[in-house]
Amino acid sequence: MANPEKGNHRWYRIAWLRSPKPVFAQDREYKSDLPAFVIRLTDFSFYFCFEIPPIHSFYPLQRMSALNSSYDVVIIGAGHNGLVAACYLAKAGKQVLVLERNDYIGGATTSQRVFPDYDARLSRYAYLVSLFPDKIVQDLGLHSISLKRRKTASYTPYIQNNQSKGLLLSNEDAQLTRQNLEALHPEDSSGYQKLQAVNQIVAEKIWDSFLHPLQSKQSWMEQFVTAEEKAAWRWLMERPIGELIESHIHDDILRGVVLTDAKIGAFTHAHAPSLLQNRTYLYHVVGNKTGEWRVPVGGMGSVAQALEQCARQNGVTFLTDSTVTQVVSGEKHTIAFTQNSISREVKTSHLLVNAAPEILNTLLGKATHRTVEDEGTAFKINLLLKRLPRLKQTGVDPSVAFAGTFHINQSYSQMEQSFRQATAGQVPSVVPGEFYCHTLTDPSILSPELAAQGYHTLTLFGIDLPYRLFTGANETVKQQVVAQYLQGINAFLDEPLESCLATDNHGHYCLEAKSAWDLEKEIGLPQGNIFHNALSWFYAENEAETGTWGVETETDRIYLCGSGAKRGGAVSGIPGHNAAMKVLSQP
Ligand SMILES: Cc1cc2nc3c(=O)[nH]c(=O)nc-3n(C[C@H](O)[C@H](O)[C@H](O)COP(=O)(O)OP(=O)(O)OC[C@H]3O[C@@H](n4cnc5c(N)ncnc54)[C@H](O)[C@@H]3O)c2cc1C
Repeated sequence: MANPEKGNHRWYRIAWLRSPKPVFAQDREYKSDLPAFVIRLTDFSFYFCFEIPPIHSFYPLQRMSALNSSYDVVIIGAGHNGLVAACYLAKAGKQVLVLERNDYIGGATTSQRVFPDYDARLSRYAYLVSLFPDKIVQDLGLHSISLKRRKTASYTPYIQNNQSKGLLLSNEDAQLTRQNLEALHPEDSSGYQKLQAVNQIVAEKIWDSFLHPLQSKQSWMEQFVTAEEKAAWRWLMERPIGELIESHIHDDILRGVVLTDAKIGAFTHAHAPSLLQNRTYLYHVVGNKTGEWRVPVGGMGSVAQALEQCARQNGVTFLTDSTVTQVVSGEKHTIAFTQNSISREVKTSHLLVNAAPEILNTLLGKATHRTVEDEGTAFKINLLLKRLPRLKQTGVDPSVAFAGTFHINQSYSQMEQSFRQATAGQVPSVVPGEFYCHTLTDPSILSPELAAQGYHTLTLFGIDLPYRLFTGANETVKQQVVAQYLQGINAFLDEPLESCLATDNHGHYCLEAKSAWDLEKEIGLPQGNIFHNALSWFYAENEAETGTWGVETETDRIYLCGSGAKRGGAVSGIPGHNAAMKVLSQP
């Protein structure tokens, strides 16, 4: 049986206790892509119980035997982008097959019961949504997706003259935010506002274009007309983001808070000539024209679930535990895959690849070209807390401080140093990162009992911890990094975080850590890059790309529909939409 802690299928338990009548109780959510019977002889002398899968759990088996020899579209990967593509294509009447190597659907957008002893479904990988266009929600009728605003934008604790302080930026109280910024430096409130105005100009201009074919850079430049618009173009598209930050903000901590948007998932620095940091920053500030990051109610898995439901309702066929092993292009492409160790083959008119571009190259037997920019840097720690820890800074309620992005050791100068050390192959002496407590915005990912007892989930996203640091000694380096993060946050807490951590039935802390190396192994992200590869510009970067959807590959009728396509990256569904439009634009 597949891992019972994953997936979304429900099992029902029929239990005969000593009661004269059978008791029907809905059990936990269990995963079952292949039906299985479990008989539990719990206590021979008194009762026994057994579980049977609901009828829809048998569907995969039916589909296995009834798999068509050919489809209009095969999609490799059931990440959220593959699901978006599947929905659009099936709605347009195409016969679609999705092959997914994992035993669950959703790729990096999944909620899982990470700590089996506790009924808490954590967003195991991705956790916040900003870039998922309202248009896709409307087109596909994804009305069950609900995104909730966090009351706090961010809190950054720091120590000054031996005193514990913190920078709180509120999403609800503009006056408080202004005061707090002015306390850092008299000009930083207005500087910060001007910087946000630059973001706003660009977001307003470019956001809608993400769901249309690519325009040339020249054509975009001509659309930035006024002096402010031209300046915004220059700041974000021509000059390293460090120049924008340094010319608008004086304070080292606030500079760092802004710079984090340019470094999440990208191994780069404020002044990199490649402008990878600018592209990363853009993706963090233009989503739905506001750049706000919101919490998906029910966890990130609820996004994938809504899409899966839409796809199934429109007749999409899913095969999980199905790893594609080879693609042979032709008039009809041949897709070879193994499903539960059985080799199978299917033909398709169009192939969409939700997996990373590097994986497509391997499947086609082509060489892989990695660039320095493609190296991933991500470190995720998932935690379950019995209670929120008290802060050293007096007068700040932890339920306010932890409700937003809780930055630690992410000042501008600290991140200059951490980047330098990581580039030299060392784990930074002070590791920068940000914590999030999603249950303060959406407690529904906890069982009512855990919520009532004051439990919370906490997650950390770490930066400047590139893939290269973990090859060869993943577990040892991970342990070292976890210890550094605990030490890092404890410097700002009035009680050690460890004292607030839940423990499992074996007495172990409810804490799991994932390095870039783990992300490659577990969810197929090459070099642990959370965006599959380096993020692209939103415009055509050469003449050949102009007018394309940014999903095309060298092979006819094989398209990327994942994060690695142009304008892919993050939980957006954009490349999924664009790949579907490409297919539908063809005869
Ligand atoms: C730790 C982490 C945190 C993140 N946080 C955020 C966040 O908060 N907000 C945000 O917007 N983005 C975040 N991201 C990025 C975001 O999750 C991804 O950019 C996005 O989910 C990619 O979606 P996708 O559908 O394109 O690809 P994926 O989710 O990577 O899906 C690709 C699918 O292809 C499957 N596959 C691969 N190879 C094969 C094969 N040979 N055969 C069959 N199937 C195959 C994989 O199993 C996978 O299911 C985060 C990512 C990570 C890893």
